[in-house]
Amino acid sequence: MLILDGKLVSKASREALKPRVQKFQAKVGRAPHLVVVLVGGHLASQVYVRNKVKACESIGMASTKIELPENISQESLNETIRKLAQDDQVDGILVQLPLPKDLSEEQILEVLPWQKDVDAFTYESLGHLWAGQPVVSPCTPAGVMTILSYYQINPAGMKAVVVGRSNIVGKPMAHLLTSADATVTVCHSKTRDLSSYTRNADLVVVAAGKKHLLGRDDFKKDAIVIDVGMHGSGEGGGVTGDVRFDELDGWVKAATPVPGGVGPMTITTLLINTLELAEKRLKV
Ligand code: NAD
Repeated sequence: MLILDGKLVSKASREALKPRVQKFQAKVGRAPHLVVVLVGGHLASQVYVRNKVKACESIGMASTKIELPENISQESLNETIRKLAQDDQVDGILVQLPLPKDLSEEQILEVLPWQKDVDAFTYESLGHLWAGQPVVSPCTPAGVMTILSYYQINPAGMKAVVVGRSNIVGKPMAHLLTSADATVTVCHSKTRDLSSYTRNADLVVVAAGKKHLLGRDDFKKDAIVIDVGMHGSGEGGGVTGDVRFDELDGWVKAATPVPGGVGPMTITTLLINTLELAEKRLKV
């Protein structure tokens, strides 16, 4: 089984970004700048945000982490984002999800400008994507496409199944695969007999958020398996995915491990998207 090594792809992508970051710096007089907004003390989110900040540093990009208290009001959160939206020194804004339960993601969409929307979270960004004219694509599915491309896996003509239909992973993943000429079926929590779909697929992207949901018997021989799932913070208990990776060797053709698969490429795509938005907005 070929292990689709997200760390390796990530390293190559980051190397390719460095000269673009340097060119931006030379032209604009500062580095591209990502701001990550973290509300509350969600442990996994803190780890993700720390990794995102470190990743920016690794290629010479600037990053700022804004930590807000769990009990912040919606109006104060919106005001923070409005200020970042108006700040010419800020190129990308990421509001780390999930938000504490009293805050609304929808309201963020009203104040986050698509020109700085690094995870293609706003309706405008998704509309551009759906129309085939993406400003940037959501980080996780775009990262999956980069992994496939790095390993010269061309989805054209493949039967693909995406397990999960969230706005940020499953739906855009299905769209990107369709755009790459795969024939895509989207499965979700109400799908009856999930395995009957996944077992017929050449390529399966699993983003259900259910630990160890699928294993060897759910895939056909020589399938390609991409595991988006992420369970655990990486601190203490380790991280595992939606797929029972240990069962796959000797059966599927290729698979992403967790950790070390989709996760690193999600972060690297965040860097790519920040740089692309910065270049577009400032016409570099
Ligand atoms: P979500 O909870 O918003 O969506 C999960 C989707 O899976 C839903 O559409 C639901 O219908 C479907 N689903 C749930 N149970 C199912 C089942 N038993 N069978 C079939 N479908 C089922 O989650 P999300 O934000 O899309 O994230 C999915 C997973 O990916 C989570 O584990 C999350 O932590 C992980 N994730 C990882 C990265 C990364 O960088 N690796 C990035 C984003 C999300």
